[in-house]
Amino acid sequence: MSSPPAADHSLPRLEGATRHEGVALEKALDVVSDVFVLFDKDFRIVYHNEANKAAMRAAGMNPDAAIGKTILEALPQIAGSVGERETRRAMKDRVATEWEESYHPDVRLHGRAFPLEDGGLIVVASNVSAEWRAREDARLAAERATRFEAVTADFRKALRPEEVAHVTLSQALDAFHAIAGIVYLLDESAGVLRAAAHHGVAVSEALPWSEVPLESGRLIADAVRMREPYYMPTREVLLERYPVAREVNKAIKAEAWAAIPLVSEGRTLGGICLGFDSDPAFDADQRMFIETFAAQCAQAMDRARLYQEAQLADERLRILAHAADRLIVPLDLDLRLRRVLALMVPSFCDWGAIYLLEPAGALRRAAVQGATKEFEDLLGEIGNAYSKDLRPPAVVRVLKEDTTITMKVDASSIPTLGIDERYASMLARFGPHVVLAVPMHARGTQIGALLLGRQGSSAAFSPADIGFIVDLAIRAAGAIDNARLFASEHAARSAAEEANRAKSDFLAAMSHELRTPLNAIAGYTELLSLGIRGPLNEQQHEDLRRIARNQAHLLSIINDILSFARIEAGYVDFTLEPLAAREVIEGLEQFMAPQLAERQLRFSLRRCDASLVMLADRDKTQQVLLNLLTNAAKFTAIGGEIHVHADGDDATIGIHVTDTGIGIPNDRLDAIFEPFVQVHRSLTHPVSGTGLGLSISRDIARKMGGDIGVKSALGQGSTFTLVLPRHNADSLEQK
Ligand code: ADP
Repeated sequence: MSSPPAADHSLPRLEGATRHEGVALEKALDVVSDVFVLFDKDFRIVYHNEANKAAMRAAGMNPDAAIGKTILEALPQIAGSVGERETRRAMKDRVATEWEESYHPDVRLHGRAFPLEDGGLIVVASNVSAEWRAREDARLAAERATRFEAVTADFRKALRPEEVAHVTLSQALDAFHAIAGIVYLLDESAGVLRAAAHHGVAVSEALPWSEVPLESGRLIADAVRMREPYYMPTREVLLERYPVAREVNKAIKAEAWAAIPLVSEGRTLGGICLGFDSDPAFDADQRMFIETFAAQCAQAMDRARLYQEAQLADERLRILAHAADRLIVPLDLDLRLRRVLALMVPSFCDWGAIYLLEPAGALRRAAVQGATKEFEDLLGEIGNAYSKDLRPPAVVRVLKEDTTITMKVDASSIPTLGIDERYASMLARFGPHVVLAVPMHARGTQIGALLLGRQGSSAAFSPADIGFIVDLAIRAAGAIDNARLFASEHAARSAAEEANRAKSDFLAAMSHELRTPLNAIAGYTELLSLGIRGPLNEQQHEDLRRIARNQAHLLSIINDILSFARIEAGYVDFTLEPLAAREVIEGLEQFMAPQLAERQLRFSLRRCDASLVMLADRDKTQQVLLNLLTNAAKFTAIGGEIHVHADGDDATIGIHVTDTGIGIPNDRLDAIFEPFVQVHRSLTHPVSGTGLGLSISRDIARKMGGDIGVKSALGQGSTFTLVLPRHNADSLEQK
């Protein structure tokens, strides 16, 4: 086999080189690792070194056949490449060119072309795959580092698990060039994954995916349950394993899926589901990136969860610390109700309401509070629309079952609540939320329920929250019950006071009106008996005396009623002054003389000590004692005896009026002090008083700081005692 003509195809064509130098150069070029190719002015290969030959052999071509061929005849695979373009440009424009290009995922070449004086071209290409890969790796690493830094920064701002979910989603879409994604939070107690953030999935499509039971056998549920990343590199693989995904995949047009659990410190918190539009590599490298990212998200989520829990724990403590004094101070029911809610809204939940069972059994929304004006308005609107008959499903259930419940409220649960359309549409305007309803009891009876709402599709009340609210509901119920009792007692008392005052006012007015005509009767009677209208016979005189007696009696009754009414209504003034008992007692006999004489009664006084000085109103004291003496005279048989004496201790003076009369039955001793009570009505003359005397007397005694007591033995006599405060040197100053 003859070698090709050396003169045409060897290096000595290089300007200025000798043959010897040419051979030496060829040998040198054969041992360098760079590819070296020499073209003539017609773009035909004149020479190529061993590195190029090896490359051609590796590609299954014959390197010896290359000499004399054009670039594309020899290397058809470079057609359309950057290398071809740059080589041609160097040839045409007679300029040096340089480029870098990958020919295969693993081979990266750095090429240079140098035009020669004779119109030919030298092409040198170095394999830079290793450096390139290192550079690429460094770039990717830097990009990921930047990504992680950004994620960390974003997470620092995200305090609630929902916020972390949103950051996770937007970063994941960006980092992995995904076209769709859903981030789920795990509700452990319910065993469901709840979508906290989603992208690339319209709400209507996402709806069936917004809540995924862990046992549903769906992609994300499996990944979370098994705590393993699931990669579905093609649509076919996905649909074969998860036929249920067909519907959502139709709408999303994703070609591949990845479902990654979010696990931190051994605790499963949720998962991310990502959809890709073109086949992602899902190679070891990318998987590692995705999983590292997910681990970081999970950590952030756990931090947010702990932070939220710590905040709530703080909040619970704060509320409890405040509960006692906040609830006890106001006695007003409405104020207490508002305070109960203000303890919890907005720090603990987004809105709250208190429902009370009214005595008739009706349910009344007694107080509401919203964290924002929007909630306040919405709550107000519902309240107005259903003013008489507002029965929230959670409250109805809680009252019926008499146990604490939580209830998810969103587009999918509203239709199951059994409420009318209007109510449903109002409820829908709250957006997804969760309610906690706690029954309230007081003195063993259900009195209503506390209803609290937290907004958000992933909002929940933890067992710690619920325990706390139950505890608070007990205190609130007690406070509400007390306020109610106070209100009803207050109402009853003021109603009674009002009625009493009305009665006294009526009696006072009526007595006053009666006195005027009675005075006229007395006047005309006197006029007639004086004979001014003409002479009267003895019979007529006797009639007039009867009229006058009855008039006087009637007037005294009416005066009694009037003074009773005045004292009752608080219209009587007292002037308290030091009053010697002796002085008062000794003045009594002169007033009593006619009655004593009429009934032939003996009257005795025990002379009393000058030191017995009372603090009392002189006239009123005398009025009381005369009343007691009149009764004694009235209820003592002719020839009986009445005795008066006084004594005292450190604080009081007692004046005793004792008779030897008919006495009072033991069981009536209290009753005789009640207005209009007369024990001996049938026994005595039909008109002998009103039954007001003792009642008025006791009122007067009490208004002066004293009282009246009685001891009696039926058929033997009675002792009435007026007790009054003793006057001490300093008792006036005290007053
Ligand atoms: P009145 O004397 O106008 O009936 P009072 O209030 O003064 O009304 O007395 C009420 C009743 O108490 C009398 O009707 C009488 O039955 C009884 N009572 C009062 N004082 C005596 C007394 N000294 N002895 C027996 N009964 C009395």
